[in-house]
Amino acid sequence: MILSVPKETAAGETRVALVPEVADRLVKSGLSVTLEAGAGAAAHHPDSDYVEVGAQVGDGWSGEVVAKVAPPNAEEIARLGQGSVLIGFLQPLTAGETVRALADAGVTSFAMEAIPRITRAQSMDALSSQATVSGYRAALIAAQQLPRFFPMLTTAAGTVRPAKVLVLGAGVAGLQAIATARRLGAVVQAFDVRSAVKEQIESLGARFLELDMGLEDAEAAGGYARQLTDEEQAKQRDLLAVEIGKMDAVISTAAVPGRPAPLLVTETAVRNMAPGAVIVDLAAETGGNCELTEPGETVVREGVTIVGPLNLPASMPDHASSLYSRNVQSLLELMVDEGELSLDFDDEVLAGACITRDGEIVHEGAQKAVAA
Ligand code: NAD
Repeated sequence: MILSVPKETAAGETRVALVPEVADRLVKSGLSVTLEAGAGAAAHHPDSDYVEVGAQVGDGWSGEVVAKVAPPNAEEIARLGQGSVLIGFLQPLTAGETVRALADAGVTSFAMEAIPRITRAQSMDALSSQATVSGYRAALIAAQQLPRFFPMLTTAAGTVRPAKVLVLGAGVAGLQAIATARRLGAVVQAFDVRSAVKEQIESLGARFLELDMGLEDAEAAGGYARQLTDEEQAKQRDLLAVEIGKMDAVISTAAVPGRPAPLLVTETAVRNMAPGAVIVDLAAETGGNCELTEPGETVVREGVTIVGPLNLPASMPDHASSLYSRNVQSLLELMVDEGELSLDFDDEVLAGACITRDGEIVHEGAQKAVAA
C-alpha cells in the first residue's frame, strides 16, 4: 500500500502528518511512503531525513491513503483519486462544503476529530495530542504577556506575590494549561461545567472554582459538555465576572463540539481586571470565550491584553507533528493488514471516524452540517 503525504497549504500551517521517525516504522512494516517535496520542512524535517528511512519524494496525493493535517481545499480534493482514502482533521461538524466535495469526489474520508474517545482509541486521539500543545503554549503566552512574575519570589528587593491564574474549561487543553502555569509557579484556579474534572484539577495542584450556579452537572455524551441554557449562561457570566476581576491572567479553553464557543468573559469582566492583566482565549478559533477577543490578534482593551491565538499547535510544529504522526500511525494499524489496505467498517473506531464513503456522507454530525 502506498501512503502519500502532501505539503500542507493552509495559511500558517507548519505541521506535517508524518515525521521521519514514524515514516521509518511504516516503511519497516511494509508500507511504501511517498512525500511531497518540502512537506516536513516547516516542522524542521528536511526531505533527506525521510529518504534516509526509505520514503520517496514525489506526488503527495496519489497514494491509496493520503494523510494530511488540515482539511483539503477544493483544488486538493480534485487531486484525490476516486476510492482513495483521506485521513486528517476534516472539521466534519462545521465544514459542510468540504464534506460534500469529498463525497462527490468518491473519497473515503476519516476525520481525526471523529475518532471515538474510547480507551482502545486513545493512541489515535489527535484532538487530545494537539490540545496538549495548545494548553502548554497558552500558559507560556500568558506568562510572557503578563508584566509580572508568575512565581512567588523572595529577593533582596522584597517579596513578589505569585500570579493568580484562572483556567476556564478543564478539558485536555485546560488541564495542560493548569499544569504548565503551576510549573511556572502561579496560583491556579480552574472552572468547568463538568463536575467530574474537580478531582483532576486538584490533582494538578490547582483549586476548583465553585460557582453557585445551581447547576447539577453539564456532562453530556462522550464526556463532552452540553450546551448550557441561556439562563444558566447568563448566571455563569455574572458570577465569573467577579472572580475574573481578581485574576492576573485568564486562560479560556471552553468548547462545546460543533458549536460556537460559549461566551464566558464579558466586557464587564475585562473591566474588572487590573491594568496589565492578560486573557489568552484558546477558543478564538470558534468565536472566543471572551466578548472582546479578536481572533488571530493581540489587542489591549480596558488596559487588559487579550490574545486570540489561532492554530497554536502550529506554533510548536516539531512535537505537534510527532504526536499527530503517532496518532495517524495507530489509525493506519487498524486499516492495514499485511501491507494491504483493508477497511473493516464493523470496527467502531473506523465506523465512527468515517465521514464519506462510496459517494455518500455517512457521519451523522457531518450530514447535519451539510444540511445546514
Ligand atoms: P473540549 O475541547 O470539547 O472542551 C473544553 C472544556 O470546556 C471541556 O472540559 C468542557 O467541559 C468545557 N466547557 C464547555 N462549556 C463550558 C462552559 N460553559 N463553562 C466552562 N467550561 C465549559 O473538551 P476536550 O478537551 O476535547 O475533552 C472533552 C472530554 O473528553 C473530557 O471529558 C476528556 O476527559 C474526554 N476525553 C476522553 C478521552 C478518552 O477517553 N480517550 C480522551 C480525551 C478526552
